[in-house]
Amino acid sequence: MTQASSDFPYLASHWSTIRQRVDAACREAGRDPAEVSILPVSKTFGPEVIRAAVALGLHRFGENKVQEIRDKAGPLADCGIDWVMIGHLQTNKTKDVARLASEVQSLDRPELAEALHRRLQIEGRVIDVLVQVKTSREESKYGLPPEQLPDFLDMLRGYDTMRVRGLMTLAIHSSDPQEVRACFRLLRELRAQANAQGHDLKRLSMGMSGDFPLAIAEGATEVRIGTAIFGSRPYPDDYYWPEITK
Ligand SMILES: *Cc1c(COP(=O)(O)O)cnc(C)c1O
Repeated sequence: MTQASSDFPYLASHWSTIRQRVDAACREAGRDPAEVSILPVSKTFGPEVIRAAVALGLHRFGENKVQEIRDKAGPLADCGIDWVMIGHLQTNKTKDVARLASEVQSLDRPELAEALHRRLQIEGRVIDVLVQVKTSREESKYGLPPEQLPDFLDMLRGYDTMRVRGLMTLAIHSSDPQEVRACFRLLRELRAQANAQGHDLKRLSMGMSGDFPLAIAEGATEVRIGTAIFGSRPYPDDYYWPEITK
């Protein structure tokens, strides 16, 4: 039996609510809502829910772990989904990403770029990538240090398996909107600097369920939304970002 979106009635209303909130944030910021897309983040949610989201017209989904992409890609093979890797990627796990992901937003270090390039060559694939930059001073957060971005972008020019489309970041976990916004502003400035040096970075993936209006105000072209679409997750966030807390 095919799962219908009516089996998850909240999905359609969550989706239209978040789209309206994103549109409102765009207008507030004086931006055209058409400039900002939403990447649904389906981590921890199973194939049935994702299939229902596909029935609503969604076809790109962000996942934080390679294992989850692998587990879901099979059962959903008929859905034509573009899987987007947004979580920390270990160098020894690039094989499945090279095979299954249409895009990687968490490219954050030279060793990873090299490993992924090799795997993509084997697969004969070319994918879009975003460089994840560490924009907060929190000790353990993943992401390339901003000062290393120019060299990293120059290095990526040598890899014809990856099209560098822009930058991605996670803002600081803070209740102070100014601190959060400073992270997003830094990402926008880094893109401007890179483009002034001859790169062509169009996209800024920044903002999540709790902070997307600030990201949109600073120029996000894409917000990554999990909770506000799929509901709260069964695991705490330190399951995904083990190094942040503890
Ligand atoms: C989980 C996750 C999101 C979405 O977070 P929500 O707060 O549920 O919207 C965005 N980006 C990354 C990298 C994530 O891991």
